[in-house]
Amino acid sequence: MSETILRVERLRVAYDHPRGVVRAVDDVSFSLRPHERFGLAGESGSGKSTMALAILRMIKRPGRIEGGEVWLGDTALSGLDTDRMRALRLAGIAMVPQGSMNSLNPVVRIRDQIGDALADHGVGLKGRALAERVRDLLAQVGLPPDVARKYPHELSGGMKQRACIAIAICLRPKVIIADEPTSALDVVVQKQVMQTLGRVQQDLGAAIILVGHDMGLMAQFVDRLGIMYAGRLVEVAPIRDIITAPRHPYTRMLIESLPSLEQRGGLRGIPGLAPLLRELPPGCAFHPRCPAATERCRSEKPAVRAMGEDATVACHLA
Ligand code: SF4
Repeated sequence: MSETILRVERLRVAYDHPRGVVRAVDDVSFSLRPHERFGLAGESGSGKSTMALAILRMIKRPGRIEGGEVWLGDTALSGLDTDRMRALRLAGIAMVPQGSMNSLNPVVRIRDQIGDALADHGVGLKGRALAERVRDLLAQVGLPPDVARKYPHELSGGMKQRACIAIAICLRPKVIIADEPTSALDVVVQKQVMQTLGRVQQDLGAAIILVGHDMGLMAQFVDRLGIMYAGRLVEVAPIRDIITAPRHPYTRMLIESLPSLEQRGGLRGIPGLAPLLRELPPGCAFHPRCPAATERCRSEKPAVRAMGEDATVACHLA
């Protein structure tokens, strides 16, 4: 088996709801190689951000990790106590969050936010040493040194997102999880931020999980793509294979809904809506929207099957 830096095994996340248990992540497994860029895509509510939080053990009540395991190298994260897990966040696995304005402290200068992150992990730098470290980190993400003295509201959206990347890489993590890092940015700034993210990932030799719903962005950035639907990982494959020959009907429809220059007429969307997780249809959760659904799909949930070393799919017809 090829080398892995992160392994997610049969992960399940549940939310306790007055009408029963809602499963937001349902038996999800995948692995990440060192230096690999792995994408997680799907519609809103498919469970991709929940899975990112579950990897970091940051699910809050009424949610809970119901089962499964996450391994970072040889370390099983469920075996770590709260302090060791807290230390591993940022140092081992770091998150670049969605919406940088909400994740940066509005009343603390960027320099001090980076200093706090370092100090919280036992790297207590002060004065000149801190200034140099901050300057280096800002340079790594393409920000000028004077950003160190600024408050978040003095920065543009793209600069704020780069400041978040600088914090995320301050302890040289092995894995970076970027949760829709460009969702609030215009396309030009989006491209610049993704280039920055790609460059720092290479400098660090880290692996990255990019969470999002922009299939065009995924096609340009990731090596392998996982597609989530209703809490399940329904297809995983190398990006070229999945774009040119998707095996799962949902993946195919997501790709077909991308606008293209050759296409005339209106955009093609996926009919219907993603199901409510507390009211999933029986069998394959995608069957009410799937043009290829058969009788079997309405009653039997498709198992996840391996398609070679790099790919999996959960569809009766694959
Ligand atoms: Fe469609 Fe059936 Fe495959 Fe589900 S299992 S995606 S309903 S063909």
